[in-house]
Amino acid sequence: MLKFEHVTKRYPNGHMAVKDLNFEIAAGEILVLIGPSGCGKTTTMKMINRLIEHTSGNILIQGKDVNLQNPDKLRRNVGYVIQQVGLFPHYTIEDNIGLIPQLKGWDKKRKHQKVQDMLRLVGLDPEIYASRYPKQLSGGQQQRVGVARALAGEPDIILMDEPFGALDPITREQLQDELLRLQKEVKKTIVFVTHDMDEALKLGDKIAIMKDGELVQLDSPERILSQP
Ligand code: ADP
Ligand code: ADP
Repeated sequence: MLKFEHVTKRYPNGHMAVKDLNFEIAAGEILVLIGPSGCGKTTTMKMINRLIEHTSGNILIQGKDVNLQNPDKLRRNVGYVIQQVGLFPHYTIEDNIGLIPQLKGWDKKRKHQKVQDMLRLVGLDPEIYASRYPKQLSGGQQQRVGVARALAGEPDIILMDEPFGALDPITREQLQDELLRLQKEVKKTIVFVTHDMDEALKLGDKIAIMKDGELVQLDSPERILSQP
């Protein structure tokens, strides 16, 4: 589904943020990227949807080189959830979630249905929340909307960059559980960034440990746990 082949990123100032990165994830898997601040996790994510262009190597989505795809089209096919969820404050929750379906030109009925379904999926009652504005929601609820928004356009891949990092521990655990439940239903391919090993072990089908721009280990949670 998603494949990195010898991918590197050198920033214009000469800094090598990612060095010879190789990995592959199958459809429906969650890959967790973990490592200390500055090890290249965000750079890796942003190369997938071309918010950052990689310097060498190949990034393939379903066998297709991302460099050969129109960046706007690519981004509609790759959902993105970040810590600062970035909902549009002057749009209702419905319009925030409906943004990508709108850009994809879906008709009103299909779009509306999708918004309703996604709100339910993330545990928010559409009757109550669809017409609200972001600031009328708690941090945890806004993060749920962020997840709903990323799913609404039916992307092949979802990138999640410390999506729950700013939440209190209880809400964070709830959202982790929700994500796992949701993953069973919708079977999306997810790349999830965290610096919290507990979160990585809980969510990942595979865990990629990064250090100084390199992948130092790629294994299942079971294998990582069973190490001496
Ligand atoms: P992480 O997400 O793991 O914290 P990043 O991918 O954000 O790491 O950054 C990896 C490294 O690249 C860091 O050393 C960071 O300072 C550097 N870096 C990030 N963006 C740029 C940039 N635009 N120009 C130069 N260096 C950058
Ligand atoms: P994060 O790890 O959450 O991505 P950072 O503090 O690493 O946050 O980066 C914040 C922004 O600053 C990003 O847009 C990144 O590209 C840019 N940046 C980070 N490090 C550098 C750097 N050394 N030189 C230039 N830009 C940088």
